[in-house]
Amino acid sequence: MTEINKPNLAGMGRDRLRSLFKDMGEKSFRADQVLKWIHQRGVVDVDVMTDISKSLREKLKQDTVIALPDVVADYPSNDGCHKWLIEVASGSRVEMVFIPEAGRGTLCISSQAGCSLDCSFCATGKQGFNSNLTVAEIIGQLWWANNKLGGFGAKIERPVSNVVMMGMGEPLLNFDNVLEAVNLMMDDCAYGLSKRKVTISTSGVVPAIRKLSEYTDASLAISLHAPNDKLRSEIMPINKRYPIAELLDAVKGYMSSLPDKRVPVIEYTLIAGVNDHRQHARDLATLLVDFPCKINLIPFNPFSLSDYRRPSKTAISNFRQILQDADYTVTVRTTRADDIGGACGQLVGAVQDNTRRSDRHRQKAAEAAGKAFTSTDNLAVSADRL
Ligand code: SF4
Repeated sequence: MTEINKPNLAGMGRDRLRSLFKDMGEKSFRADQVLKWIHQRGVVDVDVMTDISKSLREKLKQDTVIALPDVVADYPSNDGCHKWLIEVASGSRVEMVFIPEAGRGTLCISSQAGCSLDCSFCATGKQGFNSNLTVAEIIGQLWWANNKLGGFGAKIERPVSNVVMMGMGEPLLNFDNVLEAVNLMMDDCAYGLSKRKVTISTSGVVPAIRKLSEYTDASLAISLHAPNDKLRSEIMPINKRYPIAELLDAVKGYMSSLPDKRVPVIEYTLIAGVNDHRQHARDLATLLVDFPCKINLIPFNPFSLSDYRRPSKTAISNFRQILQDADYTVTVRTTRADDIGGACGQLVGAVQDNTRRSDRHRQKAAEAAGKAFTSTDNLAVSADRL
């Protein structure tokens, strides 16, 4: 068996690991031991796993690997945030961002190299799509954040208390790998994060939301960004396939399957002159009247290839006030890490685009700027990011 075909212990949830050990004629608790070594102690060298017999260690070295993606660049922000660039097996590079706040540390991680959905306000969407990340590449982001931030040696609290699947990609289009990684995040033998502190954010892949409760009880955030189908379809093409009513119905179904009282977060990026009018806020309040939720307003974070603008402080405040007056719990996301291109909607990595979408967006931008597009523009942008 070549190294590449061997089972990767770093990318296996507890069930798969137990069945691997069973197939090897070992007791299932060996799986729990290996999980703890890798994900609680940060150990990737089988020889260090001293509570496992020498003969089993030799067998593991021969028949399995422990492989995590590489961190290839490190960008500290002036505001205490941190962005890392991770190289995945497909050759693309994805980004993750750590956001420390009073009482918690949130890690925003990626699920795909690029994204096929092309939401108009999102830099990742303009990069096109390359590949789904593997379980090891997804959980590897949390592993690396703990490694870099001293989490594995932490005596009391680890620096990463919350994980949000809001980085590059649509998590529910990489369903199996994302769910296995999410469940590892919450596994007591791995990171042991609370289900309230692990959030899957989706643009609205309705069939996947409908089957979500069979696989997890993690928290959910919905990228809504518009109060009606006409506007939402303009800025989020997925809405043409799964309109708002279907989306909200699927989310209600998932939330009602959870044993505790939790509500989803509605994410709404405020874009000047597009969806930030007072009437949009009133329509949003009406739309969500029978839909228990919290609303998170995200002032648009500018990036190249987008003409959108961030609304004024007054427009943001007015929008918020209308929703609060309608009794919604509303937060306005503080922009963090924008000095390192790590703010919401700005993540781009370096995606080897299979879809040629990035070329089309750059061509459009070049035409708008009055100069001809050449393929070297694309390379220049990619190189710039490294
Ligand atoms: S907002 Fe999310 S779903 Fe939309 S293009 Fe960006 S990464 Fe993809």
